[in-house]
Amino acid sequence: MTEQKHKFKAEVQQILDLVVHSLYSKKEIFLRELISNASDAIERAQFEALTDPSITGGDAEWKIRIVVDRDARTLTVSDNGTGMTAGEIESNIGTIASSGTRRFLEAMKKEGKQAGPELIGQFGVGFYSAFMAADRVTVLTRKAGGDKGVKWSSDGGATYSLEDAEKPARGTDVTLHLREDASEFMEPWRIREIVKRYSDYIATPILLDTGAKDDAGAGPINSMKSIWRKARDKVNDEEHAEFYRHITHDTGKPLRVIHYAAEGATEFRALVYIPEKAPFDLFMPARRSGLHLYVRNVLITPECRELLPEYLRFAAGVVDSSDLPLNVSREMLQDNATIRRIRKSLVGKVLSELNDMKEKDRASYAKFYAAFGAVLKEGIPSDPDNTGKLADLLLFHSTFALDSASVSLREYAGRMKPGQKAIYYMPADSVESAAGSPHMEIFKKRGFEVLFMTDPVDEWVTMHLDEYDGKPLAAVNRGDVELGEEDAEEKKKREEERDGAAGEFRALLDFMRAELQDDVQAVRVSERLTDSAACLVGDGNAPDPRLERIMRAMNRDMPPVKRILEVNPKHQLLSAMKARFDADPKDLSLKDYTRMLYDQALLVEGTPPKDPSAFAKRIASLMADAMAAGGKSI
Ligand code: ADP
Repeated sequence: MTEQKHKFKAEVQQILDLVVHSLYSKKEIFLRELISNASDAIERAQFEALTDPSITGGDAEWKIRIVVDRDARTLTVSDNGTGMTAGEIESNIGTIASSGTRRFLEAMKKEGKQAGPELIGQFGVGFYSAFMAADRVTVLTRKAGGDKGVKWSSDGGATYSLEDAEKPARGTDVTLHLREDASEFMEPWRIREIVKRYSDYIATPILLDTGAKDDAGAGPINSMKSIWRKARDKVNDEEHAEFYRHITHDTGKPLRVIHYAAEGATEFRALVYIPEKAPFDLFMPARRSGLHLYVRNVLITPECRELLPEYLRFAAGVVDSSDLPLNVSREMLQDNATIRRIRKSLVGKVLSELNDMKEKDRASYAKFYAAFGAVLKEGIPSDPDNTGKLADLLLFHSTFALDSASVSLREYAGRMKPGQKAIYYMPADSVESAAGSPHMEIFKKRGFEVLFMTDPVDEWVTMHLDEYDGKPLAAVNRGDVELGEEDAEEKKKREEERDGAAGEFRALLDFMRAELQDDVQAVRVSERLTDSAACLVGDGNAPDPRLERIMRAMNRDMPPVKRILEVNPKHQLLSAMKARFDADPKDLSLKDYTRMLYDQALLVEGTPPKDPSAFAKRIASLMADAMAAGGKSI
């Protein structure tokens, strides 16, 4: 192939434009990005060589070299890793397949240019950072196992060129023609400083060749010690932060570091980070996730999903096992006894560390929970072996904690009132609608705490979590919820009142039931309402209205569920309706009032009325009547 000019894809051009013209702060990170790419390429080649040693061509002395040519004003980062074919270089560097670019640009807009250089690494566009320091970059590369090289070159403008080129051995040389203001990157001390700061843990030796006498025969400038192989107390926070950044591309710091070595039946080392913030794609199925799996310091896969269950997918890190064979295939990982044992240990460890954080550092745990609580809850339906531990990690808003999700089940259970039999909760779309729900009235009056279940996933949590610490969980919008123990006298009085009202209202209730026969299964006198006129309650095992809405939103078929309309006989509206009914049971307005009572009971539970425009018309006409009659406020 003779030299050919190619145009960058439009998005790449936008990034280049930014890099070349706007991002100057912390230029030095380009070296970190290039070394990180070189190290990845070497780890991939090492893995490939496990099954096909011939690709090394006899050279298994893995290394990264940094070469400075002062006369030419160039800096070259060179690796003997897997290299690229012409096609690969085009798709990896000329275009950006992932949606990373667009996200990068969006994030730049949001966070400002200062954050730019850091964001570059985060969105998988690290290579382009070379243009912060260079006005021309060339990549000379040869694929491992291939027989010829290819040269890519660009000045960061609209085009790049690609041509066949001589390259004696596999690997990649990335050469930066340094800008006037980037001369510092030719200084040995500066290069050492940067490598020490960002790339010390890289497992491959990094050699420096600046032509200076003191480099000759000098050893690696990085310590090469894998961070997870060091003793726990020998790794400081900065090293963790840098390594965490390397594996996650997250610019933040880990919230918690879990670093341990397991001995005994299964031996492995694990270094697991709990991030502080949720990545944008936490709920996307195609998201990259999983821990890096090493076998005796060789990277087998950077995304081993088998090591942790889905509900812990926010954790990032490394497992290094000495019990797996080096030639373990990715397929083998799916059903492997060693992996299963490691996974069990990791799950136990992560859950106990989270619990420890919750007990001892509530502020950090609250951050964690705000970011990942909804993911963690997925474990309740999916990991029955750990229900108890997971239940202990949950936090909720409650009538006693309206401002933040801060009440654990243990705390709730510890302050239950004498005689209170169940852990009460209210499913709702928001804290506000839960707190204001008519279902809460009796519980507030009696001083019972009620938890608010406002996450959609809570529907699955409550389906699988029947009890905590021997106490049943009970939804307060259920028809059969137990209202707590009263003394016999009180109970008798309450039942007499109810039966009395039921008798008195019998004819009206029958009328309402007939009006609403397609929508409700019964209309009855309520014992739970004090201020509101009506509410709907579920019966037996019928799904909660919110679950119905969620399922419908997911396009799942759900047979309509008929609930029970409960009315408050002490409410003015009911006495007025009764008076009108007694005067003339055929009064047409009673139909409208019945329908409206039902519609507003739907509204407060978050379900829209079946015919919202009819509802609005009725309200408007009522308002008009009320105003004409001199009514001022409602
Ligand atoms: P990222 O490394 O986050 O994917 P980059 O822009 O730094 O993003 O690199 C893009 C891709 O180019 C890499 O994923 C890799 O496939 C390829 N690449 C970059 N540098 C090298 C290298 N030294 N050897 C082999 N492939 C490389």
